[in-house]
Amino acid sequence: MIIDATHDPELASWVESANATDADFPIQNLPFGRFRAAASDPWRIGVAIGDQVLDLQATGLVTHGDMNQLMALSPADRSSLRHALSSGLRRGSAHEKAWRAALRPTAEVQLGVPCTIGDYTDFYVGIHHATTVGRLFRPDNPLLPNYKWVPIGYHGRASTILPSGQGFARPQGQLKGATDEAPRLAPTERLDFELELGLFIGRGNPLGQAIPMASAEQHLFGITLFNDWSARDIQAWEYQPLGPFLSKNFASTVSPWLVTMEALAPFRRAFTRPEGDPAPLPYLDDEANRRGGAFDIALEVRLQSRAMREAGLPPHVISHSNFADAAYWTAAQLVAHHTVNGCALASGDLFGSGTLSGPRPEQAGSLLELTQGGKQRIALPGGETRAFVEDGDSVTLAGRCSRNGFRSIGFGPCEATVMPADAGTGGRTAP
Ligand code: CA
Repeated sequence: MIIDATHDPELASWVESANATDADFPIQNLPFGRFRAAASDPWRIGVAIGDQVLDLQATGLVTHGDMNQLMALSPADRSSLRHALSSGLRRGSAHEKAWRAALRPTAEVQLGVPCTIGDYTDFYVGIHHATTVGRLFRPDNPLLPNYKWVPIGYHGRASTILPSGQGFARPQGQLKGATDEAPRLAPTERLDFELELGLFIGRGNPLGQAIPMASAEQHLFGITLFNDWSARDIQAWEYQPLGPFLSKNFASTVSPWLVTMEALAPFRRAFTRPEGDPAPLPYLDDEANRRGGAFDIALEVRLQSRAMREAGLPPHVISHSNFADAAYWTAAQLVAHHTVNGCALASGDLFGSGTLSGPRPEQAGSLLELTQGGKQRIALPGGETRAFVEDGDSVTLAGRCSRNGFRSIGFGPCEATVMPADAGTGGRTAP
């Protein structure tokens, strides 16, 4: 994943909206996603450029609409595709006339989950999140003894991963207060978001063949934003001894664009651990990972209540963080660890990073942390306060990479609005 001509900050596109300094999708980014004109159409592979989507099939660069197949390309073929896109979209390209016909305004198409997600694993790499949440339950011993040795994770559910923009109903479940004699079935009263990144697998591995650190990143295709919605009251009652279940599998929101590992090359950072912490076991360690295994991705959470929306108030930033400051494990280490027992990964598999809280309280990636378990409500513009997410609230995650001497790139929005429990599946019985 080297820095090359496709990252040149001087490159500009004949798609003028891509040249704005605050554009998420300048020609240096070139993320992949799936789009369609109508719900009855098949998905097509698109590349975001400014406020447009380039239909990849219409350019002739691919002959199919199967994103998982594209994600499984060899690193060399992926690099060629990126160079072809960069060259065709730059000012003065001979492709301009033909490719203009392959553009669709993003606002006029439907964007989906970026690929078919076969399996979904949620990790727990945010050490500040793990410490703060651990402290709420175990004040004397917040971080469990395995945390600095094992990248902790659990297997989640791919069927309820939703594209950005799709709302969902507040889920119901078993709730039991500390002093309640028995649980009751009711809509969650402690609905929360989790600020995460989604790491998508490109090429898989055969069953029984562990992926070593040296090639781990070649199996990663790209990164999205990921909101792992969580019902804290359902979670508190159900999670022992096997971990989260119905508190986590009612909805997770993913942003539509896979920002590729190639696009992220300029934004690498050294991976370090605090003095005195154990070195990773050899299967989770190598020189390249120490030199540049972390990614500098600035993250933000914005909340807009229904009242704010009706009053014309913009979404309010309630937290900001950074992947590199929040994560105790790198993307490469997650791939190496996930496969060390021979587990087979497939193209399109998703790893959630875990909640990416920064070291300071205002950098927390969930309301559980921001409000100290609901005890310290946060203030919103317009006079409202929040302990947890309420009906009508819209939560948006945003991510951006910046470095001196390079064009900044962004991830596009990851947004969902929570509807009342009786508006949909939550609280209703299927026919
Ligand atoms: Ca999570």
